[in-house]
Amino acid sequence: MHELSIVADLFTIIEEQARKAKASRVTRVRVLIGELSGVVPELFRSAFHSYKKGTIADKARLEIKITKIKFKCQNCGKEIKTRDISSPDFSYACPFCGSKEMELISGRDLYLEKLEIET
Ligand SMILES: [Zn+2]
Repeated sequence: MHELSIVADLFTIIEEQARKAKASRVTRVRVLIGELSGVVPELFRSAFHSYKKGTIADKARLEIKITKIKFKCQNCGKEIKTRDISSPDFSYACPFCGSKEMELISGRDLYLEKLEIET
């Protein structure tokens, strides 16, 4: 399962940060999941809760925030969210100037936003 290997990677980071902060336990974990990351939040959540057993984050609560897809037009510099793009075929053309040089600036990644710990 895709989500399980992502959770395993996440726990490597969590345990490393917890060790650096001399934490005795991790109480809360907040991750950002991009709409385009391919991660299913519900699968991610269940993978997290089965993986956490026996780790420093054994009792941790998981918060998931979904980050929306956002583009930046390389031509006019405007930021575009997908709801601004009316075309159903998702052609990625800038609604302001029509340029197709759009850079994806948000919505693809999954990362750890915040960790709450007890020392
Ligand atoms: Zn533009």
